[in-house]
Amino acid sequence: MMIRLGLVGIGKIARDQHLPAIRADDRYELVATASRHAQIDGVPGHADIAAMIAGNHALDAVSICTPPVGRHAIAAAAIDAGLHVMLEKPPAATTTEITALADRARERGVTLFATWHSREAAGVAGARDWLRDKHIRAAHIRWKEDIRRWHPGQEWILEAGGFGVFDPGINALSIMTAILPAPLLLDAARIDIPEGRSSPIAATMAMRSDDAAVTADLDFLQTGPQSWDIEVETDAGTLRLSMGGSVLELPDAEPVTREDREYPRLYARFAELVAAGKSDVDIRPLQLVADAFLVAERRTVAPFQF
Ligand code: NAP
Repeated sequence: MMIRLGLVGIGKIARDQHLPAIRADDRYELVATASRHAQIDGVPGHADIAAMIAGNHALDAVSICTPPVGRHAIAAAAIDAGLHVMLEKPPAATTTEITALADRARERGVTLFATWHSREAAGVAGARDWLRDKHIRAAHIRWKEDIRRWHPGQEWILEAGGFGVFDPGINALSIMTAILPAPLLLDAARIDIPEGRSSPIAATMAMRSDDAAVTADLDFLQTGPQSWDIEVETDAGTLRLSMGGSVLELPDAEPVTREDREYPRLYARFAELVAAGKSDVDIRPLQLVADAFLVAERRTVAPFQF
């Protein structure tokens, strides 16, 4: 079955990843876009989702790539129009929004797919399989990147609901919740918010999974080498996932790097979910971020300008 798709929010990730993945997958035809300022050459463009829905494109589904604040209204409009919905991460600005969307999609009988692209990174499935029968002693997330390099001018990211350093950090949490055999629970957090901003530029989290201590060190001001690394210490040695989950290193083995297929895999999965009439909405990474905001010790740090 061919899926007639509308793409909403034509920004960095839509252009870098979604467009190439859609164009390479013959199950999809991109028939319209909705974005306030941007368009794609050769594809009918509308200013918003309402105009796109009214545009007689015989849409089957939409893929939403706007920032998290405002996603709920866009997704709700699509669901109400009977369209299947794929959401960029984080799936909504709040846990209540995504839960309400999941209910709404179920009632309307459409597919809702809350994607976690980092879970599709090449090393993640192997890490999960290897950890299944190990005793885990401790685990560490080090997610340190330069906001100016990866998010130039994205003011929304430091506004309320923009997630700040949890925008990349939630990717690490999506991997950790996928590879650890036991639930991941939050004990404490610290968040550093630049003076005059609303979302954190750095954060730490102290978590546990069974009797293993799990820590996260998230930083948006990392210049020089960047790190998107996870380490899991077990009774059988230490597993390392680096480069955002794409490189897997098991004890006494050479690191394995495979081709990046995150977005092609997400679109393949969405097509499968639509064909099967199913949804996939795992909110655990979002719950951990929400919990961090609930319990965090807050510090105000130096002002930040892009
Ligand atoms: P972006 O470059 O700022 O693009 C988002 C687009 O959404 C904007 O170009 C804008 O297009 C539209 N938009 C609608 N309402 C908006 C609002 N209130 N504020 C700002 N833009 C708004 O952001 P992005 O990097 O593509 O990120 C979008 C989502 O993808 C985020 O949830 C992010 O976490 C996720 N993501 C990003 C990356 C990455 O590497 N950048 C990777 C994976 C996932 P119009 O002005 O034309 O409406």
